[in-house]
Amino acid sequence: MIDTPLQHPVVVLGSGLAAVSFVGGLRAGGFTGGIIVIGDEAEPPYDRPPLSKEFQREGAVEKIRLDLGRARDVEWLRGTPASKVDTRRKEVQLADGRSLGYGTLVFATGATPRRLPALQQAPMPVLTLRALEDAQRIRATLAPGVRLVVIGGGVVGLELAATARGMGAFVTVIESLGRLMNRCASATLAAAVARVHLEQGVDLRLSRQVTGFAGTALALDDGSKVQADLVVVGIGVVANDDLARAADIACDDGIFVDRLGRTTCPAVYAIGDVTRQRNPISGRFERIETWSNAQNQGLAVARTLLDPATAPYADIPWYWSDQYDLRMQVAGVSQGDDEIVRGDAASGSKFSLIQLHRGRAVGVTCMNNAREFSSLKRLLGDVVLPDRAALADPSTDLRKLLATPKA
Ligand code: FAD
Ligand code: NDP
Repeated sequence: MIDTPLQHPVVVLGSGLAAVSFVGGLRAGGFTGGIIVIGDEAEPPYDRPPLSKEFQREGAVEKIRLDLGRARDVEWLRGTPASKVDTRRKEVQLADGRSLGYGTLVFATGATPRRLPALQQAPMPVLTLRALEDAQRIRATLAPGVRLVVIGGGVVGLELAATARGMGAFVTVIESLGRLMNRCASATLAAAVARVHLEQGVDLRLSRQVTGFAGTALALDDGSKVQADLVVVGIGVVANDDLARAADIACDDGIFVDRLGRTTCPAVYAIGDVTRQRNPISGRFERIETWSNAQNQGLAVARTLLDPATAPYADIPWYWSDQYDLRMQVAGVSQGDDEIVRGDAASGSKFSLIQLHRGRAVGVTCMNNAREFSSLKRLLGDVVLPDRAALADPSTDLRKLLATPKA
């Protein structure tokens, strides 16, 4: 990949968390050149995590606005999709016919939920949950007694299921695999989460697919039917990398970037959910679809653009998810070939897990155990593990244990 110094104007495509964090980082680092942020949403920037949680309960838009305090003197173009990038002329075309020249271009275009074509003509509302507008539509229908069917047992669907149960809706979750949260949680965590959803009265249909609809019911592949007033599809996302691909920038469901956010094209960078980057734990190029990545990769790329001597981005991926009164935090990779369990994961609601691969810690999970999260994260990477029995004992003081690693 080719190194390029920061040139202005800086044009950012997308106005989500990664974009806000990046432009805030440029201004905080003393950059005084022109910055233009092009966003296709008409809304000023907002935070997405509350959309499946507090926002459904409270509906308070003002509480989810992103703080633009550090992103001063920025020209924001809202409700203005970019439609083409010409990297030879260093120009971005907008859907309204305008074009803008750039010195440095940054893709922060995020991702779009996958849809289910089988439900295109369904009579009930079939929605996805990504944007504020989606959340407002869901909220307008959610009420006590409403029959919500969530398709996909990933984080977004399960958070919405938990929130909707709390609001008195009847909830069915349909997941095509035999377990929940396959992409982002260990089997032990997934089983604990499934247990709580069942206890809370969610109708969990694992290893099932929706094949279509019959009147006001969804038809499943085992011949059964599920009545639905509202369907929310949460079956993963695809990267918004179409403009980059059309500009011959290397992509594969995500724009390839190095640790400086550089793409394969000079003067073009990418940050946040749209990127495919090397996961420092797995060593593989992956999309890291988390709030902390959008925030910290955005900031780190701003810093390294301003000062190439700054340490490049190498954060260990992590996310949190809130469901009912559970707060789970997961760092590193979620599945290994062995696992250490601290506490009672089979029937309790407070425990930690350490995922191992060939004897090395590759992932940690804390369920309602936030106090252990930062200590456990220190095990990730090339660390000599302390005694296994001590690690597995929830009464062991981790700070003391990890201060004296085994020789
Ligand atoms: P986005 O926030 O998707 O922003 C990209 C923006 O670019 C969008 O506004 C998009 O419309 C715009 N855009 C796309 N194409 C164009 C174009 N051609 N021209 C102009 N604009 C364009 N993560 C956690 O770690 N914990 C959580 O609890 C959590 N909860 C979540 C709950 C929900 C409901 C959702 C949807 C996500 C959640 N996440 C959570 C994930 C986290 O919010 C995302 O990882 C983060 O928002 C990604 O930020 P981004 O800026 O990269 O992308
Ligand atoms: P996930 O990929 O996490 O989960 C989707 C689930 O749906 C997978 O288990 C998938 O199985 C399953 N699935 C796929 N197709 C079908 C089908 N036809 N019928 C039934 N199940 C199916 O995606 P989500 O939609 O839950 O989440 C997407 C976004 O959420 C992420 O991009 C990220 O931005 C955000 N996120 C949210 C967090 C949170 O809410 N706390 C935390 C981190 C990220 P399979 O794996 O086989 O495809």
